Amino acid sequence: ILHRFNDDGEEIGKDGEPLRSKVTFARMAALAKPEMGLLGFASIGLLFSSGSQMVAPLFFGKVVDAAQHSISELTRTVLIMLGIYLVGNIFGMIRAWLFTLAGMRLVARLRKRLFNSIIQQEVAFFDTNRTGELCNRLSSDTQVLQNAVTVNMSMLVRNILQLIGSLGFMFYLNPSLTGVLLSIVPIVSLGAVQYGKLLKKLRKKFQDKLADAGTMAEESLSSLRTVRTFSAEGKAGHMYGVEIDESYNVGKKLALVTGGFTGVIGTVAYGAISVVLWYGGKLVYDNEHGTPTGLTPGILTCNPIYGSPIYMVVLYMVVLYVVVLYAVGASIRIFDLLDRQPKVSNENGIVLRSIDGRVEFDNVKFTYPSRPETEVLKGISFILEPGKVLALVGPSGGGKSTIVNLIERFYDPDSGIVSLGGNNLRELEPRWFRQKISMVSQEPTLFACSIKENIAYGKTATDTEIQEAAKQANAHEFISEFEKGYETLVGERGIRLSGGQKQRIAIARALIMDPVLLLLDEATSALDAESEHLVQEAVERAMKGRTVIVIAHRLSTVRNASKVNSQAPHPQLKVEEITVRGHNYRSGRSHVKVRELTEVRKVKAR
Ligand code: ADP
Repeated sequence: ILHRFNDDGEEIGKDGEPLRSKVTFARMAALAKPEMGLLGFASIGLLFSSGSQMVAPLFFGKVVDAAQHSISELTRTVLIMLGIYLVGNIFGMIRAWLFTLAGMRLVARLRKRLFNSIIQQEVAFFDTNRTGELCNRLSSDTQVLQNAVTVNMSMLVRNILQLIGSLGFMFYLNPSLTGVLLSIVPIVSLGAVQYGKLLKKLRKKFQDKLADAGTMAEESLSSLRTVRTFSAEGKAGHMYGVEIDESYNVGKKLALVTGGFTGVIGTVAYGAISVVLWYGGKLVYDNEHGTPTGLTPGILTCNPIYGSPIYMVVLYMVVLYVVVLYAVGASIRIFDLLDRQPKVSNENGIVLRSIDGRVEFDNVKFTYPSRPETEVLKGISFILEPGKVLALVGPSGGGKSTIVNLIERFYDPDSGIVSLGGNNLRELEPRWFRQKISMVSQEPTLFACSIKENIAYGKTATDTEIQEAAKQANAHEFISEFEKGYETLVGERGIRLSGGQKQRIAIARALIMDPVLLLLDEATSALDAESEHLVQEAVERAMKGRTVIVIAHRLSTVRNASKVNSQAPHPQLKVEEITVRGHNYRSGRSHVKVRELTEVRKVKAR
């Protein structure tokens, strides 16, 4: 079998079209399938509204001819014409309403499916796919697709109907005049094809430039604090401005081309219509001066009315062609995402009746897929017994968070085994075992909903359970002081909480899950003394009776800390076991002084 490819390297079929887009068209149609009923009714509306637009101009001519006979005939003709327009517009309304409705339903369904597909993807996927771009697919690509399968489709059908109808009526009225008008069509079509090519190229370029500008804006706005710190608003504005100017330069050409083509095609069209009018006028003249040609002034009046839209239809078809190309691009991106299977998943994973917090790393090697050149974990082994506390110490970038990422199975190790409660993580149902692990980071994310919903984010819980968790986390008191208590909205649109308050809510959120394993990330965010004390107390309460892993960024200051369970020495990383209660620091051989231990303890909750 011979495969053929086009310039873009896509495989193409016999017709020269990329194979992918054929699949895409079929799938776009499949996507619209649930809307078939609506689209059917909409098409009936379309048929009647287009029909009335076709028939009504006939009455223009009849009005002209009737005016030469009697007033009553004139009135009657005008009234009929009005009636036809009225009916046509009612159907037009139905058409516009139902097509838009079908599109809205389609896009709503598509967005939900797409979001669900995106959020199921493994964490590594989000390392290489920018959030901004994914959101773009959700908002604008789906919009393009919606327009393509509904509004643009309906316009296409409408235009084709109009083309056929106009030609039919013109032939019916006077074949020879129509012939004159049509002789121009090949020239127009040739121009239209060239115009289409140019338009396609320019619009792609325009879109690309705009995307570049979007990336630039996203970068600056999402790191606003950095921009502000360096008073770099002007610089950010300038950089964005440069990108926008580039898109504007393409936009200028686009405007000129669009305007120019409309002008040219209009001139050609009305030139042709002028020729027709002259020739038709001569026939009318002949008809009235002895040579019967059958052409009345009324019929002549109708001709340009039918004739001129033909050119507009041609123009619109070109624009439509470019729009459809876009839709194909958008839908390829959408379908790729919809079809993507998350790499880390285990639908058939085991769900156990109970599990303990024992964690074991057995010669684990790991490299981030997005940074294949750097091996982050070079064969790390350790065992954390249930109920014990493990501190991960090491310099920034040493791989502490990476270990936590592997325990959550955000990523799979390249080799070696990560196990929880004696089970290889790969064999467990991820959604189940993740509920047994809770993470509290120093800068926790709260979602844009009530405090109550934030605490019960991981599971449905009763008000009593929520309050109990909040009390354990030293959060109940400050929450109760809010006017709306647990119903207070937080997150982007809600009230601003202090760092310490956020953390305590995050601890409550973790506690309500009753995890067997607690992961604590001790980033170096500064808390005021009061807050620090409350947070530390909450953390200690949370640790009680649980297996805990602490990412202890500041423990790196404890120089004497020795490796305990780490069997394979890791160049960067130290894994240490400490028992928190009883102020006991258990290590393989050496003992760490209590002074350092207090330092450890102090550091822990920061
Ligand atoms: P620590 O928590 O000890 O500061 P990390 O585990 O965060 O260290 O990082 C270890 C190494 O892995 C660093 O070199 C870091 O740049 C890299 N790294 C961390 N996260 C990612 C990621 N999502 N994609 C690629 N590289 C990463």
